[in-house]
Amino acid sequence: MKYKYVIVGAGLSGLTIAEQIANNLNEKILIIEKRSHIGGNVYDSYNEDNILIQNYGPHIFHTNEKQVYDYLSNFTKWIPYEHRVLSSVDNKLVPMPICIDTINQLYNLDLDEVGMKDWIEKEKVPIKEIKSSEDVVLANAGEDIYNKLFKNYTEKQWGTSAANLSPSVISRIPFRFNHDTRYFEDKYQGMPKGGYTAMCDKMVESDKIKIILNTDYKDIIDDIEYETLIYTGPIDYYYDYKYGKLLYRSLRFETETYDQDSYQEVAVINYPNDYDFTRITEFKKLTSQEIPNKTTIMKEYPGFDDEPCYPYPTQEYLDKFEEYKKDMDKENNTIFLGRLAQYKYLNMDLIVKNALDIFQNKIKGD
Ligand SMILES: Cc1cc2nc3c(=O)[nH]c(=O)nc-3n(C[C@H](O)[C@H](O)[C@H](O)COP(=O)(O)OP(=O)(O)OC[C@H]3O[C@@H](n4cnc5c(N)ncnc54)[C@H](O)[C@@H]3O)c2cc1C
Repeated sequence: MKYKYVIVGAGLSGLTIAEQIANNLNEKILIIEKRSHIGGNVYDSYNEDNILIQNYGPHIFHTNEKQVYDYLSNFTKWIPYEHRVLSSVDNKLVPMPICIDTINQLYNLDLDEVGMKDWIEKEKVPIKEIKSSEDVVLANAGEDIYNKLFKNYTEKQWGTSAANLSPSVISRIPFRFNHDTRYFEDKYQGMPKGGYTAMCDKMVESDKIKIILNTDYKDIIDDIEYETLIYTGPIDYYYDYKYGKLLYRSLRFETETYDQDSYQEVAVINYPNDYDFTRITEFKKLTSQEIPNKTTIMKEYPGFDDEPCYPYPTQEYLDKFEEYKKDMDKENNTIFLGRLAQYKYLNMDLIVKNALDIFQNKIKGD
């Protein structure tokens, strides 16, 4: 078999770059994917009750990048959707991220913007140097908020205390001094009409693209002639773990279907302090699917054993990745792309943007 480009992984990274090469350069591409489907972690499918399930957890598209929104709009229409998350604390459901309503509901207060600023100011713990995620929350919102909303959730999610995690893990969650209860503030937000898998199918419609599923690339790569390999799998696996394994937090997903129209108030409810799962997603609330008297929910149980989900952001693993990075930088005919090869949590919009940029700067220009 002979191809100019071989792509490992049919996630959003691999599919975006494949689409760009096929439709702009008219070159033949082979994608090798070890799972039984394309889409990687954004894969969704219909269950036996015809409810669209996001098999690897809830995925909400949001971006400020017009380029990315316009690009994906070539392959899907959008259902308008603004994500709202509630957190179950002290028998109340309070909005996340923290805004004025969160504080008012949690502490039975009636604060306005100024009142919330004063309240938080009094709660904040002075910390000289922010070294961990725990420090981030203590310094921004104080000990009680930390204990109620963050401490146990983080411990469940990462299997370790927030005190051991780099500040980047929790600094992704904004604190708001207003009544905006949306989870994301981005200009473009929505869900692909018909789902992510339908969008992905459309991206790789070209007959220039051949996809082999259920195959680890190492099993066949020696039999394929190619010029450039585009690798979107785990970087430690590519290098046969020569500097050791990189750790990922993974998730186990359990779905349950109920004979009722609705299960919960919003699409996602977090459970920081109760149960072993971290959150419950009700899919119909994400996708606006209208299916009477049935609804499917998903519980997420964090662990270390399943598919890699989140890079484990402790210094030990970030340092290890830097060792791999030195080797990556020396490669001539391999391009590394995506969350697994870069050992970095990246939202879908950045994944697409990176792939578009790599195509423009590294491939088209060649
Ligand atoms: C639980 C969860 C929720 C998320 N929610 C959101 C959200 O709401 N909004 C958002 O913007 N982003 C979200 N993300 C991030 C989003 O999933 C990623 O941005 C995106 O899926 C990354 O695409 P990728 O192609 O880089 O990686 P992947 O989707 O992981 O694709 C890589 C592919 O490579 C394949 N592969 C790996 N090794 C091999 C091998 N040896 N041989 C062949 N194939 C191989 C894998 O099977 C996989 O299909 C979420 C992530 C998680 C984990």
